[in-house]
Amino acid sequence: MTDTNFQYIDGEWTDGESTDEIAVRNPAAPAEPVVTFDGASRAQAVRAVTAADDASEEWSNTAPSERDSLLYDVADRIEARQEELAETLTREEGKPISSSRGEVGRAAEIFRFFAGYARSATGDTIPSNDPDTFTYTFREPLGVVTIVTPWNFPIATPSWKLATALSTGNTVVFKPSSETPMIARLLVQILDEAGVLDGVVNLVVGAGSTVGDELTTNERVDGVSFTGSTDTGQHIADTVADRIPVQTEMGGKNPLVVLPDADIDAAAEAAIGGAFGGTGQACTATSRLLVHEDIADELTEAVVERAESLTIGPGMEDPDMGPAVSAGEDESNFHYIDVAADEGATLVSGGDRPAEMESGYFIEPTVFTDVHSEMRIAQEEVFGPVLSIIEVGDFEEAVSVANDVDFGLSASIFTSDMARARAFTEQVEAGVIKVNGTTTGSQIQLPFGGMKASSAETQKEMGQRAYEFYTHEKVVYRTDP
Ligand code: NAD
Repeated sequence: MTDTNFQYIDGEWTDGESTDEIAVRNPAAPAEPVVTFDGASRAQAVRAVTAADDASEEWSNTAPSERDSLLYDVADRIEARQEELAETLTREEGKPISSSRGEVGRAAEIFRFFAGYARSATGDTIPSNDPDTFTYTFREPLGVVTIVTPWNFPIATPSWKLATALSTGNTVVFKPSSETPMIARLLVQILDEAGVLDGVVNLVVGAGSTVGDELTTNERVDGVSFTGSTDTGQHIADTVADRIPVQTEMGGKNPLVVLPDADIDAAAEAAIGGAFGGTGQACTATSRLLVHEDIADELTEAVVERAESLTIGPGMEDPDMGPAVSAGEDESNFHYIDVAADEGATLVSGGDRPAEMESGYFIEPTVFTDVHSEMRIAQEEVFGPVLSIIEVGDFEEAVSVANDVDFGLSASIFTSDMARARAFTEQVEAGVIKVNGTTTGSQIQLPFGGMKASSAETQKEMGQRAYEFYTHEKVVYRTDP
């Protein structure tokens, strides 16, 4: 079925004008097309940026109370359509329906949280050395912000970028992943129905190499907020970061360290949730389990037992684990399983497609032992449900292995020794650190972002100060005549 009206430019829904066909298939049953349509052309990307630029002055001058009301209204509308949004998300991305409902609920929570920014993204008054001079700072919007997002949290990630950008008075061109265009379109429809002014939000769905390049390099764009793979993020940063603010949140290879004094059952639960939740398709997924050699056998057994009890199936049946999102991710998962085996790691669980599930992109939760830090399986982001267990001899080795990767997104330690836990938080190279918790999961009132190859480390997303990326800070010395 060819669908229409996937692009939203200057307040009008329209068809893509390129010859790139975007075809989304149900990852649980790929023979079933979910939607097919034409992607946007480069000229449409230019029109979207122009519309956003033309709308910028009016939107930035709207009363904060108006922006705040709009975003609250969007939150209410998301909640009112929760089931429709969740089913759409599961059909195109594949995640279990209860996870989709949770993500949609979170999107509503995000719009409410950031609605408050419209009135509270304040500057400071700072004492001046000169009694006749009043000194203060204030913030103003960047202008036109391009928002580029991946498919794995296809409503939550765009929501926190859109809500922050809009509340602080920016106009937006939103380019979602072509794997999840339907949920993106629904979100923008909701903004449209809530009454966002023409040109303030634009949706451009198309190929990264054409519309993505235009939307990041166009001279009328004043900032780019990107979430996705490290390769794409670095390409964008290399291309435009010398001219405009660029925020990039990228891949991870997240370690979970377990010391002998840990609660082993709790650690095993956290490893399972972190490695296999969302089919391992989270930037914060637990990819490496760094376990002290004294408890390695016990923890491995606890992890394998739990991994083998997970249910796998189509997201609409609400299993523990749905399929991988696409043929490409499916292929990559099995490729990494071969790589690990060829490197000499020992497969102790999974590694196959589940029996009688040949038609979808399903994969068993997979656990390898005998993994060493220099192996590719311990260094490269897999982005699927593949957990590598690495034995370490002591805390110092655990920290050294944890840091022995290019990435630095999230990390966790399980221990009952709080001095050790504190040393870990200080020594581990990660932007988000848990003590006795999963590497995944975050709360919107806390800042989120990585280090090293996981982030450009400009400003964090979410949290009390996420507005910093979306605004210029100006400092004023005012001497009255
Ligand atoms: P991706 O980099 O392939 O695509 C991300 C987005 O960039 C898509 O919308 C894509 O169309 C667009 N894009 C591609 N080329 C572009 C270009 N030249 N210019 C502009 N845009 C372009 O990533 P993906 O496969 O969609 O997502 C998975 C990756 O995202 C993983 O590496 C994961 O770790 C990462 N991720 C990171 C975070 C985080 O917060 N750190 C969160 C979620 C996902």
